Amino acid sequence: MHEVIIIGGGPAGLAAAAYAVRKRMDALFISKGLGGRTNRQLTLPWVEDYQVIVGEETIQRFRTQLDYLNFMRVRTLVTGISQIEGGFRVTVAGGKTYDTQTIIFATGAAGEPLGVPGESDYEMKGLCYSAMTYAPLMVDRNVTVIGEEVMALRAVAELSRIATQVTLIARTDGDLDTQVGRRVLAADNVVVKRHAHVVEIKGDDYARAVEIECEGQREELTTDAIFVERRLVPNTQLVKGLVDFDECGFIKIDARNRTSVPGFFAAGDVSSSSAFQVLMGLGDGEKAALSAYDYVIGIDVPEDTPCD
Ligand SMILES: Cc1cc2nc3c(=O)[nH]c(=O)nc-3n(C[C@H](O)[C@H](O)[C@H](O)COP(=O)(O)OP(=O)(O)OC[C@H]3O[C@@H](n4cnc5c(N)ncnc54)[C@H](O)[C@@H]3O)c2cc1C
Repeated sequence: MHEVIIIGGGPAGLAAAAYAVRKRMDALFISKGLGGRTNRQLTLPWVEDYQVIVGEETIQRFRTQLDYLNFMRVRTLVTGISQIEGGFRVTVAGGKTYDTQTIIFATGAAGEPLGVPGESDYEMKGLCYSAMTYAPLMVDRNVTVIGEEVMALRAVAELSRIATQVTLIARTDGDLDTQVGRRVLAADNVVVKRHAHVVEIKGDDYARAVEIECEGQREELTTDAIFVERRLVPNTQLVKGLVDFDECGFIKIDARNRTSVPGFFAAGDVSSSSAFQVLMGLGDGEKAALSAYDYVIGIDVPEDTPCD
């Protein structure tokens, strides 16, 4: 039986695995690829590679541990997790199983797609799902945000401090008429298209326009970049019924990345405390590894005890 199995090869899983190596834990790292979401980098005509954190950079951060990580790594997908006496059983594609005392679950999250023509053609070519990541690149640009809830409002607020104009396309009133909604949308450079839905994303090498329909009228809005900010969907299918989720479906964790099940830890975008940023994911993975290590050596830290 392993001491820890880390599931997921994004920043959180990589950091957790590297930390487990440092602690000389008997660890297994299950991940098809390395880098996770950071491999999907937004490309825009005016943006150069050095301006964003890319997958390769995330992976290189762990250069010294990578040879060892390769040795302890299973390159496939996890298909099942169950509780057994003293720990967990992890099943991978093909049916092979691995037993472990603890799990660090770092399978990430994805943005909910619009499902309209052109979206998949222009994904990461001018269209993306994370204004938080790319807002700083939008100086002097006209940008479009699609969504109507807090996530979209947060994106508009952030972008309106940087871009020349932000157009929000909202299907419903959503959170637009809340106090925060009114404040965010009052900015001089914010335009709102209410009760409008996206029909198609258009462009050439990059997304250049959004076709919308509003009260039966079609309109084509030109834009420099498109941010789909509807909902983040955590990859939690494997642990439904095993651990508790928060009201948005993310795995509920405490300050030490512990879930409702002793020995089961979660880190990064799949967890309730995520800030959806690479550097936060890295720190979160290391924190989860530290907690798994404490658990394995039998130290049970109360929730309100500060880290030492
Ligand atoms: C929608 C969205 C878009 C983002 N876009 C960017 C961006 O373009 N650039 C950027 O720098 N930051 C971006 N971020 C921020 C940053 O990339 C993420 O916060 C960070 O990658 C999260 O790390 P993670 O390890 O938690 O998850 P992820 O990076 O998502 O990694 C999850 C890992 O789990 C693996 N996995 C999933 N299911 C299984 C399974 N069943 N078995 C085995 N492995 C599995 C995946 O293959 C992947 O390796 C984005 C965040 C979000 C939510």
